[in-house]
Amino acid sequence: MERPNAWKTYKKADLKKVEQTAAEYRRFLDNGKTERECAAETVEMLEKAGYVSLKSAIEAGKKLKPGDKVYVNQMGKAVLIFLIGKKPLETGMNIVGAHIDSPRLDLKQNPLYEDNDFALADTHYYGGVKKYQWVARELALHGVVAKKDGSIIEIRIGEKEDDPVVGVTDLLIHLSQEQMKKTLGEAISGEKLDIMIGGKPLADAEKEPVKAGLLKILKDEYNIDEEDFLSAEIEAVPAGKARDFGLDRSMIMGYGHDDRVCAFAELAAILSIQGIPEYTCCGMLVDKEEIGSIGATGMQAKYFENAVAEILNLNGETNSIALRRTLQNSRMLSCDVSAGYDPLYGDAFEKKNAAFLGRGVCYNKFTGSRGKGGSNDANAEFIAKLRKIMDDNKVCFQTAELGRVDLGGGGTIAYICALYGMEVIDSGVAVLNMHAPMEIISKADLYEAVKAYKAFMLHA
Ligand code: MN
Ligand code: MN
Repeated sequence: MERPNAWKTYKKADLKKVEQTAAEYRRFLDNGKTERECAAETVEMLEKAGYVSLKSAIEAGKKLKPGDKVYVNQMGKAVLIFLIGKKPLETGMNIVGAHIDSPRLDLKQNPLYEDNDFALADTHYYGGVKKYQWVARELALHGVVAKKDGSIIEIRIGEKEDDPVVGVTDLLIHLSQEQMKKTLGEAISGEKLDIMIGGKPLADAEKEPVKAGLLKILKDEYNIDEEDFLSAEIEAVPAGKARDFGLDRSMIMGYGHDDRVCAFAELAAILSIQGIPEYTCCGMLVDKEEIGSIGATGMQAKYFENAVAEILNLNGETNSIALRRTLQNSRMLSCDVSAGYDPLYGDAFEKKNAAFLGRGVCYNKFTGSRGKGGSNDANAEFIAKLRKIMDDNKVCFQTAELGRVDLGGGGTIAYICALYGMEVIDSGVAVLNMHAPMEIISKADLYEAVKAYKAFMLHA
């Protein structure tokens, strides 16, 4: 039952494609380090490929015919993609969905303060992080500042080679006797994750001269006033680009593989489809998965359902039963990263049912915790169909669960889409260091994921 290593199956031509895909993916990661940047990058790629916004199709009252390509940009933080197929929408869609938000440190709404000639910015971490991993390393600031006049100022500091970086400091080992006695979970508290941003006082400032100096820079270079932080979304993320990992360059280390690796794979898959597919293909790149899929850009919001209703409406299907049938008859891969087996922590896994880097795209019948709690448990019949699609299309795949029973757990967007009564299974790429500032994936698994998602959209 051991699954073969994908690398062993590759001929020269495959290896070339593996590297091409990896290079395109690294560029995608570097350009999109926040959900906003990732959504913008996605929309740019879609428009280049001839996709038009659903909004513009609605405004034009344009009927959608097979082969038409539309997208939905939800508040600049989530994107839905539709490639209209030959069969009526009511026969269901082939959906692949991933999320584009990643763990990070968000600046608070009133972030700035000065303490003994340093200026710092207070943060509130986003998603599940091991806090000790986020100190003593270079961070970049990405995000937007929304001004009262309606203008948006984009921030991206720390990525160019001559840009300054910022970061959270840590106590020197020499004075850490007390800190070192604490558990990993307690050693760094959430309120200690404050980012140091400056240390040069402004000469003629009356009070808080370092902070005043920084505010002057923000005003001069970006036209930002301190009060503008009230309506800003600024995320501190690991600075720098994704890089090849391993002396054999078999892997990629970068920030935000969870879950941009699956988002990229589904995007690459849908963009590679030539001609008109049988069933309508749908790609989802959604926000807020890491904090429970809530909010107007998360999977629990109704924009996906609304978009499908709009498409049906454009084609004269105004009956609500058509919408329900379309959703219920759909088939979906809920694409999210899997926990890759780590030889240093082998006892966290049950090896027969672990995901291994290099053994292809991963399918998780269930996720959840403590007795599959909170999990979508995919149907055996659907998995059998998937096995056939994967084998027919020569996709290397493996099946896995998150780790050892009773050790922990996690969730995805699968259960939310399953609410419509559609077939859903979790699928993804195995990751090492999941949720750490720098995560690791195998190039082979990325390549197999693109193949898998394309095969699914064309043949499910
Ligand atoms: Mn994820
Ligand atoms: Mn995650």
